[in-house]
Amino acid sequence: MKEITCKLLVIGAGPGGYVCAIRAGQLGIDTVIVEMAKPGGTCLNIGCIPSKAIIHAADDFAKTVAMAAGKNAMGIKADNPVIDLAKTMSWKDGITGRLTLGVAGLLKKAGVKIVVGRAKFRDGKTVAVETETGEQVIRAENIVIATGSVPVELPMLPFGAKVISSTGALSLTEVPQRLAVVGGGYIGLELGIAFAKLGAKVTIVEALDRILPLYDTQLTQPVAKRLAALGVEVLLGTKVKGLSSNGEALMAEAGAGEEKRIAADKILVTVGRKPVTEGWGREELELDMDGRFLKIDEQCRTSMRGIYAVGDVTGEPMLAHRAMAQGEMVAEIVSGKRHSWDKRAIPTVCFTDPEIVSVGLSPDEAKAQGREIKVGQFPFAANGRAMTLSAEEGFVRVVARADNHLVLGIQAVGAGISELSAAFGLAVEMGARLQDVAGTIHAHPTQSEAFAEAAFKALGHALHI
Ligand code: FAD
Ligand code: NAD
Repeated sequence: MKEITCKLLVIGAGPGGYVCAIRAGQLGIDTVIVEMAKPGGTCLNIGCIPSKAIIHAADDFAKTVAMAAGKNAMGIKADNPVIDLAKTMSWKDGITGRLTLGVAGLLKKAGVKIVVGRAKFRDGKTVAVETETGEQVIRAENIVIATGSVPVELPMLPFGAKVISSTGALSLTEVPQRLAVVGGGYIGLELGIAFAKLGAKVTIVEALDRILPLYDTQLTQPVAKRLAALGVEVLLGTKVKGLSSNGEALMAEAGAGEEKRIAADKILVTVGRKPVTEGWGREELELDMDGRFLKIDEQCRTSMRGIYAVGDVTGEPMLAHRAMAQGEMVAEIVSGKRHSWDKRAIPTVCFTDPEIVSVGLSPDEAKAQGREIKVGQFPFAANGRAMTLSAEEGFVRVVARADNHLVLGIQAVGAGISELSAAFGLAVEMGARLQDVAGTIHAHPTQSEAFAEAAFKALGHALHI
């Protein structure tokens, strides 16, 4: 096969890699992208998008079940709802299929050459790709490593048979009667709640003494309340030991050595993800590491000239929007523009019920940095739109510097509030003061009014509480 030469080679077509390649193509850079699975990576195929589709379907189903049980205050009635999970999954596959085709189309439109196969470095400028039709050698001036991450496997619970990862959970065609979830983080809670709504008896086993350790307890408390209402059992401070001898149950140990036996039809292990730093010839290079991740600087440059890295392979937070922003920046740098990572904050959103959003510093984080702060919090119970949506649980909280009122962070918990992350992100990124947020007219009736009210509260004069 004839060798390809190009200015930019991107390895991995997840959000980091494909965005980098599209932007590079738009900038007129001669670009090749190599992907061994499908365009879109984890996010579009087995991560963000399919999980949000299933969460949405589970939500609709749970609402219909509640109506059938006469638990609907609005007077809506329904009869005997059932869910055909195989059909739900093919609906979800339709969405991911359209999106991955869309990504391939965008790459082509930008003039990017797509090579399908596993890439392996030969040296700092040369990569060999195992394709279906043989080996393709690619020489490039610049190379971006965007190989992403994969689920962490526990040695005592290897994936296979009834032990599944998020990928397995997102392709189940029947709702398991009893689902044990190991790990009460992002995936465990998003999917654990979804499967509870679909009718599974869910037990969450978390090693720490709290769920969602990334967020403070004020934010996670409404989620804990909802878990209880859904009948989800949450075992905190509990360590898994493996399967029972007959393979029917998950064995675990609670704090004081108390043995737990959790009967389960499926065991979903969600104890984190690990960067893909093997399998692509790292041994042929001299790349510095930052713990388990590839070390990068503020321009996503690795320790080798002409080799960049973006996305999950480069560190926390392992989120699609961070990967995309890094990818876009690297394309601009390769095109000769002056750029470096200067983001004030990366929003995090947990698609639990209710949803949690955080941008910038929480009150505890700000205090830990020795800052004098003002905090304003406004409950959705006092927000008219939230009432009309039966979504009164939760609040918006604004954290600002006490001296000049610069907004340092914004957090919220509430139904459907993931969309508020845009307003929160903009405020922090643009260096808004409390007066800017309070002085912006927020349309009525919307949940976003709680944002302005939280700023008013921090200024000492909330209007609606
Ligand atoms: P990836 O998306 O992992 O893509 C890497 C690509 O590289 C893969 O396609 C892989 O096949 C390819 N590759 C690897 N090695 C090679 C090689 N040698 N040759 C060729 N190709 C190779 N993030 C959010 O921001 N919001 C969410 O709601 C969210 N939900 C999630 C839900 C789940 C269930 C999971 C698992 C993850 C979720 N994430 C979410 C995380 C998000 O998916 C990742 O942060 C994001 O996909 C990282 O993008 P990336 O480009 O770094 O890597
Ligand atoms: P996570 O890091 O969010 O949570 C893992 C949880 O497992 C933690 O609470 C941890 O204490 C617990 N744990 C670790 N070892 C354990 C053990 N042996 N027994 C019991 N509990 C144990 O990891 P995740 O849920 O697998 O998600 C991986 C990553 O994917 C996230 O960190 C995030 O970057 C990304 N993600 C993001 C979203 C989103 O943005 N909405 C959604 C899903 C995934």
